[in-house]
Amino acid sequence: MNYSDSERLTTLLDAWGFSPVKTMQSADLIVFNSCSVKQKAEDKVYGQIANTRAIRKKNPKLITVLIGCMVQKGRRFKVDIACKTEEMGGLYDRITELRPEWKLKDFNAKGSLENYFEINPKLTTPSQAFVPIMTGCDKFCTYCIVPYSRGREKSRTFDSVIDECKKLVENGVKEITLIGQTVDSYGLSLSDKKSGKFKKYTDGISTPFSKLLREIDKLHAKGLNRLRFTSPHPKDFSDDLIEAIAELKTTCPYIHLPVQSGSNSCLRRMNRPYTREKYISIINHIRAAIPDCAITTDLIVGFCGETEEEFEDTCKMYKEVGFDMAYLSRYSPRKGTFAAEKMKDNVPAAVKAKRWHKLNLILKKYALKANKRFAGLEVEVLIEKQNEKELIGRSREYKEVHIKKFKKNKNWIGEVLNVKIKKVREWELEGEITK
Ligand code: SF4
Repeated sequence: MNYSDSERLTTLLDAWGFSPVKTMQSADLIVFNSCSVKQKAEDKVYGQIANTRAIRKKNPKLITVLIGCMVQKGRRFKVDIACKTEEMGGLYDRITELRPEWKLKDFNAKGSLENYFEINPKLTTPSQAFVPIMTGCDKFCTYCIVPYSRGREKSRTFDSVIDECKKLVENGVKEITLIGQTVDSYGLSLSDKKSGKFKKYTDGISTPFSKLLREIDKLHAKGLNRLRFTSPHPKDFSDDLIEAIAELKTTCPYIHLPVQSGSNSCLRRMNRPYTREKYISIINHIRAAIPDCAITTDLIVGFCGETEEEFEDTCKMYKEVGFDMAYLSRYSPRKGTFAAEKMKDNVPAAVKAKRWHKLNLILKKYALKANKRFAGLEVEVLIEKQNEKELIGRSREYKEVHIKKFKKNKNWIGEVLNVKIKKVREWELEGEITK
């Protein structure tokens, strides 16, 4: 989300006449796009804001701006402007108010959510794009600040998402990633139900999200090669969504489905409304419909009250599912959340570390096992990076693939290549171009 927000903000700044500089010291305007998921991330932003004091001494005209999840009602920051992400269009007026002499170029910008969605992002990689389809979250997991920082769930209109995807594909984008806190509940939130905006997309069998995938998939004929999404929530991961992923040409055999814990009692304390049995049945259904699907997840170790037994349940579930990869984090209380205010962070740091390392060893073993199935196979790779030594891209299964033999005097970024896998490691594959 932050990556995509920064792309949208760059578009605005560019249109208003700003251009990037190499160091903070030489900037007239410094914008911090903040993340508040972890306290550590917030502390870093505070540190960076403090660093601007010295720059201001040399350049009194400097404007500092904070956007992103940290900006919430009632909080004060030592910056000139604090602005919610979806209100970034309103920065035009606020900068002009402070520095009328800068005479920014006019550009249709308003500080509204609709306007935020309509900003055409300046893409960092021309063949790949992130498209936000919703903001906020209604799930209220007890450890998470997002429903408070990003607000309640709001879906973008169907037509607006489709229009943006069409424009992107017309401009040469080959891979689109739909983003949102819980993408599979797209069009299902309370406010969506109240407005009835997505009613025609739910027929009792299909969900608005699977309808959206089916509509975007039609862009395959125009050059769209891959359609991804992140992150879904197990509660809303429906059968019709699995069917759509299995059937469509552009959807990829890769699903990142956060589980957070393999213990039912721990899931209850986290306010994650599913059981490990339900989660495993979703995985089984995915594997039956999409046999070679790569599956990754997020896990938290050492959550409030996590016992040895509960942790062992997570390890057992990990092995049962055999994840391709997981993002492991040690629980740390996030001020303002239910867990931080009402529950005890009573797993000692040393125990959290021990559990994290144990799970990480399991993760490595299964990552290698999962990658071994690609040895000798030919995979399709979209090239994302190029340097003197190698090309780096991703397969449809989201595996990082390195290619050492290639013509150096050509720009390969954005090319889709067939690659035969010769070497397999835990975190990456290595192969040779076949055509
Ligand atoms: S689903 Fe839970 S963890 Fe994810 S954004 Fe919403 S509250 Fe946070």
